[in-house]
Amino acid sequence: MPTTSNCIFCKIGSGEQKAKILHETDEVIAFLDINPLTNGHTVVIPKSHYERFSDLPSQKLAELFQVTQNLNGSIQGALGAQGSNIGLNDGKQAGQVIPHTHVHIIPRYKGDSGGSLHSVVNMETEENLDLIVQKIKTQLG
Ligand code: 5GP
Ligand code: ZN
Repeated sequence: MPTTSNCIFCKIGSGEQKAKILHETDEVIAFLDINPLTNGHTVVIPKSHYERFSDLPSQKLAELFQVTQNLNGSIQGALGAQGSNIGLNDGKQAGQVIPHTHVHIIPRYKGDSGGSLHSVVNMETEENLDLIVQKIKTQLG
C-alpha cells in the first residue's frame, strides 16, 4: 500500500493513528471527522496516498464512492439526518488542508441553518459559456 510517512490520513489508513472508524475495506477506510461540522460528519479515504482527486486510479475511485454511497444512507438512517452534502476539497485553492484526497459526508438536519454547495463561492463568471465549453473540450483532447 503506497503511503507517505508524514501524512496523518496514511497513518489512519494503516492503523498507526487512532480514529473513530465506521467502515473499512482493503482499499478504503471511513472515519468520523475530528472537527465535525454536524453530527456524523465523516471522512472517506483511499488507504493509499493520492494527493489530488485526479490522481486516483478508477478502480479505487469506484470503491471510494461505493463506500461513500453505502455509508451515506446508513449515517442518515442512524442519526436521523434528512440529507447530506457530499464533496471534496480538491487542491489548496478549494480549501484542501490534508494533501491526501478524501470525501466528506456532511449529514444535514432540519434547522441546522447551513447552506448548500451553492454557497461555497460566487465569483464573477465568464458570460460566454460556449468559450468555456471550447476550452474544456480542448483540454479533454
Ligand atoms: P480538508 O480541508 O483537507 O478537505 O479537510 C480535512 C478534514 O480532516 C477536516 O475536516 C479535519 O477536521 C479532518 N481531520 C484533520 N486531521 C484529522 C485527524 O487526525 N483525525 C480525523 N478523524 N480527522 C482529521
Ligand atoms: Zn496520505
